[in-house]
Amino acid sequence: MDRYDYVIVGGGLFGGVMAWYARQNGKSCLVIEKRSHLGGNLYCEEIEGIPVHRYGAHIFHTSNKKVWDFVNSLAEFNRYTNSPVANYHGQMYNMPFNMNTFSKMWGVSTPEEARKKIEEQRSSVTGEPSNLEEQAISLVGTDIYEKLIKGYTEKQWGRDCRDLPSFIIKRLPVRYTYDNNYFNDRYQGIPIGGYNGLIEKLFEDCDVLLDTDYLADKARFDAMGDRIVYTGTIDAYFGYRFGRLEYRSLRFEDDIYDTDNFQGVAVVNHTAREVPYTRTIEHKHFDCTVPYSQTEKTVVTREYPVTWEEGMEPYYPVNDERNQSLYQEYARLGAGEEKVLFGGRLAEYRYYDMDKVIESAMDKAEKEFGSRL
Ligand code: FAD
Ligand code: UDP
Repeated sequence: MDRYDYVIVGGGLFGGVMAWYARQNGKSCLVIEKRSHLGGNLYCEEIEGIPVHRYGAHIFHTSNKKVWDFVNSLAEFNRYTNSPVANYHGQMYNMPFNMNTFSKMWGVSTPEEARKKIEEQRSSVTGEPSNLEEQAISLVGTDIYEKLIKGYTEKQWGRDCRDLPSFIIKRLPVRYTYDNNYFNDRYQGIPIGGYNGLIEKLFEDCDVLLDTDYLADKARFDAMGDRIVYTGTIDAYFGYRFGRLEYRSLRFEDDIYDTDNFQGVAVVNHTAREVPYTRTIEHKHFDCTVPYSQTEKTVVTREYPVTWEEGMEPYYPVNDERNQSLYQEYARLGAGEEKVLFGGRLAEYRYYDMDKVIESAMDKAEKEFGSRL
């Protein structure tokens, strides 16, 4: 077939949800993906019988019941609850910031004692916090900022905390209870066996071209579809004509260890500046339905943040003022492309979690097809 109702550029989550709706509505789809697999950053690779989250830890969490019901209709989820631990020079602190963290940091035992400590330490910030450093200190005080936030954040983003927007740190809960759940959302889990089954369902009955860059042959692919769904970077779509948006990238290094349990938890955050990686992920602990002792070996991935350059994966948008206003210029051009629907983390240049990508794709699909779930 060389003519489709939809040409979907990008085999990630946004493209997948659009493809699913299109197929439900009897539309034909061609999916063009430049990587050698579908799934975008959710893709899992099996190593030593363990599903390895190839592009970093992916924990599904949402408060949107419609989104939760949708993903559960396509895959069976486990009851994994993310409760990472931060390692600062060998001292282990529970995350996110909660009574366990405060107790270890200051020896306090009640919420009132913890509040008092943070009140004392936040006095240097007056008025509305204008950057990540001020926001962090005003939320948790200077000790936690220095030990658990500053080094990690400056490694992750490659810039000073005073040059970063405050919203990034507001992603993390601060709780005056002994609760180590990293997320506040009502629903949380990981598909049993990893994300690939979910991805297969989303793209069922689509034609797929892997290892293919849409932009390298745009005119030909455009002629193949009545509508285009584009989920790649928006600055690349427009040939970088106003300049380049900035992204952060990551390098993942795997090690296989001859032990059934390397770090005792799926995610350890390494918060000291001197340690070059930000996280170590021990993938087997994501699957709480299988006892960890069932596999004799374990796979551990170290996550090294790097400055994005051409040819690397653009994992994170850098939503500072310069990039936001540049993005707005591209978005204005995008609005004029009548045949093209732009969506997802890269085309909308937003720090979207999976549930928000699904929500946004559902909204757009329902406008497109007029159908509801
Ligand atoms: P992507 O997954 O990036 O998909 C876009 C696809 O388009 C890619 O496959 C890309 O190769 C392809 N593409 C781009 N340009 C072209 C082109 N020119 N031609 C052909 N194909 C192209 N979210 C959570 O909810 N929980 C988490 O725990 C979580 N952890 C994360 C950890 C990391 C390290 C990262 C980077 C993200 C994490 N996320 C998490 C966010 C999650 O990955 C995203 O919300 C989701 O993957 C976005 O889907 P998408 O379809 O918008 O983008
Ligand atoms: N963060 C931190 N210390 C930690 C974990 C996170 O300072 O141990 C900060 C850091 O700035 C990070 C932000 O909180 O970019 C958001 O963390 P999250 O875990 O949501 O990052 P993501 O999973 O998106 O990489």
